Amino acid sequence: MKLPWKTKGIVLTAPLTEEVDNVVKFIDEYLAPNGCNTIALQIRYRYQFKKHPECMGYDPLSEADVKKLVAVCKKNGIRLIPKMNLHGHQSGLPNTPTDGILHGHHEKINDIRDGLLRAYPDLDEQPDEPAYYSRSICLTNPLVKIILFDLIDELLEVFEADAMHIGCDEVLNIGLCPECKKYSNAKLFGDWVTAVHDHLASRGARMLIWGDRFLNSAKTGYQEYESSANGTDPAIDTVPKDILICDWHYEKTPTVYPSVDIYHEKGFEMLISPWRVRANTDQFIKYAIEHDKGHIAGILLTTWCGSGDLARHMLYGESGKWLHTEEIARMVRHIFEEE
Ligand SMILES: [Zn+2]
Repeated sequence: MKLPWKTKGIVLTAPLTEEVDNVVKFIDEYLAPNGCNTIALQIRYRYQFKKHPECMGYDPLSEADVKKLVAVCKKNGIRLIPKMNLHGHQSGLPNTPTDGILHGHHEKINDIRDGLLRAYPDLDEQPDEPAYYSRSICLTNPLVKIILFDLIDELLEVFEADAMHIGCDEVLNIGLCPECKKYSNAKLFGDWVTAVHDHLASRGARMLIWGDRFLNSAKTGYQEYESSANGTDPAIDTVPKDILICDWHYEKTPTVYPSVDIYHEKGFEMLISPWRVRANTDQFIKYAIEHDKGHIAGILLTTWCGSGDLARHMLYGESGKWLHTEEIARMVRHIFEEE
């Protein structure tokens, strides 16, 4: 697709260790030749952390694995951005694709806690919730920054990164514990985002973040996952303006995307992030092009399937293991190939 923006990017889940070579090949032989210049790699806790090995997630990548990804991106002029979830999405349900802990699909079965909350269950904002697809971190526990900033530093170093995507989407559990209850959700969220931003800035790295918590659900009309119904949105006025906001919308809207205009009014640069459904993606892109006031840096297409699954399907025509992988592959072709 011919797009008027500089950034043509994709979110890939960090490959299973056995899939690293397939994903390197996919980047080298498909994404790079088709103009992809940015990859946000959803690594979560799936790295062999040296300083906090207790936080290692499922099937963690080694330094050598990461360096293969760094090398292929460097060779092709692709900006490789590690992506962690630094607020919500600290758990997953077991009925998910094969790249470790991913989004669950809402069935109430026992969940899998990701690295941080498995090692430190006390940092869970709602530890007595029996099973949940998106546990979140308590933002007032002082241990949180001590551990997470170490993890951030290690990832920035191994990825040789000048930016990090910190997730922070779909946070429904916030302001619930006795200490967090003392503050408004806007203050909790704004202070947290600012603290992580300042830490990244001190390391020379720019922050990317999902935009949904800055959008008021009632005012924008977006549904509750794509926007905030729990009072976090006023934080948009307190966080630093050099944050690159990734505005994700996957559902059909009545053709209007007020977030595109809100981020301009508030003085932020942004990326648009659609997903797999063709009609919804095309509608979002059309609106963004028509309403771009020079504040849209580009597109960051989301995928959410295993990157190895996507790579094998697109390189070798293998059937996708996850039910959405082949539809996602069609969207990748639509964005990166079709005129
Ligand atoms: Zn708390």
